Formats: sequence, structure tokens, C-alpha cells
Amino acid sequence: MLPERLFGIIGYPLGHTLSPRIHNWGFERFGLPAVYLAWPVTPDKLPGFVAAARLLGIAGVSVTIPHKTAIMPMLDGLTELARKVGAVNTLFWKDNELWGDNTDVAGFTRPLRERETLPDSALVLGCGGAARAVVAGLLSLGLGRVSVTNRTPEKAEPLLRDFPVAFVPWEERNSVPAGLIVNSTPIGMTGAYEGLSPWPRYDFGPGRIAYDLVYSPRRTRFLADAEAAGAEVVSGLEMLLWQGVEQFRLWTGRDLPAKEARELLVASLYGSRGTNGER
Ligand code: NAP
Repeated sequence: MLPERLFGIIGYPLGHTLSPRIHNWGFERFGLPAVYLAWPVTPDKLPGFVAAARLLGIAGVSVTIPHKTAIMPMLDGLTELARKVGAVNTLFWKDNELWGDNTDVAGFTRPLRERETLPDSALVLGCGGAARAVVAGLLSLGLGRVSVTNRTPEKAEPLLRDFPVAFVPWEERNSVPAGLIVNSTPIGMTGAYEGLSPWPRYDFGPGRIAYDLVYSPRRTRFLADAEAAGAEVVSGLEMLLWQGVEQFRLWTGRDLPAKEARELLVASLYGSRGTNGER
């Protein structure tokens, strides 16, 4: 089957991305004649890429660092969510116009929406790009109180200006009685931060939920400590999965079977060790 529609991801440096794997699998799964490629695009080439996307009628694009904000003025339209978050991770066509959306928000909230009950307060650790999608998601869930904390207080200012959230100094973060704690920093990630946690281990407990945006390793120190203390845990793998499911639905109108897609991600990220939760 020859591909008729072209999709892909742009970013720089692109490194190893799982997006081609998941979307090409989806196209095959539904028998759709489409292909998804990876395009490393340097910042100076971004306007040229957007022009090429229009010229060639590229059907959909995933956008990652460092283009998520820079691409916004180059588009014909933005969803309210993308505007609110201040970042675009998905390009799609709407009535012959090239639009930008942000599926990180839906990706983040999906595992929480599936729960019967939600805590009424949350604390977000970190105020970078991902934290904006997290905060937008938490507010969309209607949580009563959302607080954020950041190592560098000044860097939290744009987020505090754009969203109705409270700021807690980094050193006082564990004094906040939040039911949901979200790690939106890279602490715990494979590499220099592996084995570290942004949260003191004695401060978890039953009734709390720990949500780590880090997905490699699968079982971070943050999640392992939370689980050992009887808290519930959500892995960053879920956000990764559901933002991709949402993108695929936006482009094709089809729902990727989440269980199979998760298995594919687990096998790609953690190999045979994925099944027991280890990296
Ligand atoms: P970012 O924009 O670079 O922000 C990083 C944040 O982490 C900043 O608030 C930074 O604080 C804080 N930070 C970094 N190193 C720290 C340290 N040693 N101690 C305390 N705070 C530290 O990154 P991002 O795009 O928001 O991504 C954050 C994490 O989320 C990354 O690990 C990324 O892989 C993950 N992520 C996962 C998904 C998913 O689908 N699961 C999606 C997006 C991102 P300062 O302001 O003080 O520097």
C-alpha cells in the first residue's frame, strides 16, 4: 500500500523519538495509507518548514522542543488550549487552514479522568514548559487548589501571571498538604538525575497520588518511594501514551487501542524488563 498522506515530527535535536513508531503502527493497524517521518529542523529553518508543510500539504505534524512556542505566530489558527498553554505540540488542518493544538494537556489529564475521585488540591514541582500543560490540565479538572513550586522563583513568574495558581518556595514544598503531587522536573530521569527524587520519601502516604512526568526509567525513585509509603502512582508513560492517542485521533478520527499502544511503548522504552516495571 503506497502512502498517500505524510505526517512527521519536528524538533532539534530530535534524538531518539518514539513518535514514528507509534503513529506508523497506528496507520498499519487501521490500514491507512500514510507514513510518519522524523525531521530534525533547526530553529532558523522553522519558517521554511512551515512553508513546505503548506506547499506539500503535510497532513499532520508533531512539534517538540525547541519549536513549541516559536511556531505559534506562523500558523493560521490556534485552539484555545494551545493559546492558554502558550505552546503547540500538534499541527492539523481545519478548513484548509493550518492550526496548532496542544495534546499534552489531554495526555496529562486522561489517567486522572479515569479515576472515580480526585483530590481537591495539587502541587506541581517545576515551572517549565511541561508544567504549563500540567497546570492547564489540573485547572480543567476543576481542582480546588493548585500550587506550584520552582527551584528558581523568577522562572515561575510567567506561569503565575497566566494561571490562577499559588507559589510555594522550593524549600517549603513539602509543607503543602496537596493530595496530588506532580513531578514536572527531570529529577529521577535516566542519566545524571537517575535515583534522585524531588520529594522527601517520608512525606508520602496513603491517600496521596504521585504523578511523575518522567517516563525513563519507568519506576523512578519518586514513584518507588510513593508506592512504598502506600500512595497511588501514575507514570509519565501514561501522559506520553495518551498525548499520542489524542494526536492520532485528531488526524485520523480513530482511537488507537491504548492497551496495544502501551505495550508497544513499553517494549520500545524498556525492552523485556518493561513488564516488571523496571527500566
Ligand atoms: P523544562 O522546560 O526544561 O523545565 C524543567 C523544570 O525542571 C524547571 O522548572 C526547572 O527549574 C526544573 N529543574 C531542572 N533541574 C532541576 C533540579 N536539579 N532541581 C530542581 N528543579 C529542577 O522541561 P519540561 O519540558 O518542562 O520537562 C520537564 C520534565 O517532564 C522532563 O523530564 C521531560 O522529559 C518530562 N516530560 C514528560 C512528558 C510525558 O509525556 N511524560 C511530556 C513533557 C515533558 P528551574 O526553572 O529552576 O531551572
